[in-house]
Amino acid sequence: MKYPLTGVKGSVFYKINLSDIIMNINVKNPATSELLYELQPAGEKEIGMAYDTAREIQQKIGAMTIGQRVAEIVKISQYLIDHYENIATRIMEETGKSKFEALSNEIFEICDGIDYYRDAAKKILKPKKVHTPLILMGKKSKIYYEPLGTVLVIAPWNYPLIQCFLPSLLAFLAGNAVIFKPSEVTPLKGLYEQIMEGAGFMKNAIQIMYGGKETGAKLIEARPDKIHFTGSTRAGRQVMAAAAKDLIPVDLELGGKDPSIVFEDVNIEKTANGVIWGAFTNAGQSCTSIERCYVHESIYDRFVDEVKRITAKLRVPDPKENNTGHGFDVGCMTAPFQLEIVEKQLEDAVQKGANVLVGGKRLENSMVMPPTVVVDLTKEMQLINEETFGPVLPIIKFKTEKEVIQLANDTEYGLGASVWSKDIKRANRVALALKAGNIAINNHMLTEANPALPFGGMKNSGFGRYKGDEGLITFSNIKSVISGPNDKVIEPHWYPFTAVKYETFPKLMRAFFSRPRKWLTFAMVGLKLDSLGGKERIKTEV
Ligand code: NAD
Repeated sequence: MKYPLTGVKGSVFYKINLSDIIMNINVKNPATSELLYELQPAGEKEIGMAYDTAREIQQKIGAMTIGQRVAEIVKISQYLIDHYENIATRIMEETGKSKFEALSNEIFEICDGIDYYRDAAKKILKPKKVHTPLILMGKKSKIYYEPLGTVLVIAPWNYPLIQCFLPSLLAFLAGNAVIFKPSEVTPLKGLYEQIMEGAGFMKNAIQIMYGGKETGAKLIEARPDKIHFTGSTRAGRQVMAAAAKDLIPVDLELGGKDPSIVFEDVNIEKTANGVIWGAFTNAGQSCTSIERCYVHESIYDRFVDEVKRITAKLRVPDPKENNTGHGFDVGCMTAPFQLEIVEKQLEDAVQKGANVLVGGKRLENSMVMPPTVVVDLTKEMQLINEETFGPVLPIIKFKTEKEVIQLANDTEYGLGASVWSKDIKRANRVALALKAGNIAINNHMLTEANPALPFGGMKNSGFGRYKGDEGLITFSNIKSVISGPNDKVIEPHWYPFTAVKYETFPKLMRAFFSRPRKWLTFAMVGLKLDSLGGKERIKTEV
């Protein structure tokens, strides 16, 4: 992307492209504001070299068996298990989350994904024999899953390790070389290299390019064979527009505004605990955090009281204390600009009449926004319409099932949702009526915990799926092959097209598409068409 500027130096006009000026990026610990290091973004030369390397190494990756690729990714899992402490500490330093969250939501989930595909990959990617209709008698049909080439993975800052590593490992498993760009907010510089080198993972199969959105744009300009993008809807649109220039396929994992629906028959204590976790885990910085909680009017007051009681007990880090990554439940927020969005949305809601029951104000001189519960909300508030991506739980009353489905679906997003009820039949009915990609019943964000389930969204939450069968196949060229014998038969649908053929063909259609099929007529007309194929050619040739 170019942003031309013009200027005058002496009497000479000159043109500057901002994208050619690459500024170093300061990476800070959000809990202490301490400068951790300066990041030098990858430039065009480095990017070009990375693609050259990727194209070369891909030949080797593509020639490996799936078993050999599985053996490579298992090495990563083993390394993560053996070195979790150092890795969790690095994640904590750059994100501000607790070490337990780094361990359970990132390290464990990567290992769990690897563990699943260790057994499943071969079955998913194995060539599949599929049905061949009788009309194509004598032929065989098969689907092959082949590598695409070089896959570009672009990741956000909320779960830096897993969002970079898991899609990259899946793309590798499907036979591709991978280049990934972590977020400039949490680049974890050197950590991925340390993990891959320490694990003895295939050299250069996965390369890392550091930098911000300018680097991301340059990586797209260099024409990967596929882009797996996770990030905001705004950036997703830009990525898709840039990819369209070269028709590069994209998977877009974007933002969300997840609703959680609580019916009147729930166990209030369990449900309140689940909703609180779903809203505040990772300080609410999850694409599938609960951002709207709809509660049936008959239990609304009791539910709100319970949420208030539990939320008030959640521990946040003390900004004056040294952050050890322990001793708190909800960490600080990671990105200053995101905390400002949260504050702006809260201010807008309060101005329009909302009431903050717990939290609502960041701790002084810090990135800590305590878990916040808000009630008395209306549709006009940003808190109801826009992605918040922070530890805020808005609670709204509803009367009927029909009304709550309509309220839950009244959003530009369609990523996740949850339904809470003892009546599983009703919960299933509501789950199927919600326009979203991932739904948990009597839980939240739980589809993400099962690597066999494809994950992704609809509407402005993006498209494409990662994890599950689809999430591996998405990194493949799906090749269909049909084969038949090289015998004497001239196919009836080949030239020449004659009046006799035209009159005979409908008889075959009638026999074949009737139920029950008229097999005898079908066979006789088929034979006639077959013989016409040869004879008519000879006739026209004479
Ligand atoms: P972001 O869109 O600002 O950045 C994401 C990544 O894209 C970063 O690496 C950034 O450098 C890069 N980028 C930005 N603009 C680009 C461009 N024009 N070309 C190429 N690369 C570009 O998002 P963020 O603030 O890092 O992350 C928060 C967002 O991510 C939230 O909206 C959240 O909902 C979403 N998210 C979605 C999922 C999901 O699976 N659906 C998961 C996690 C986060």
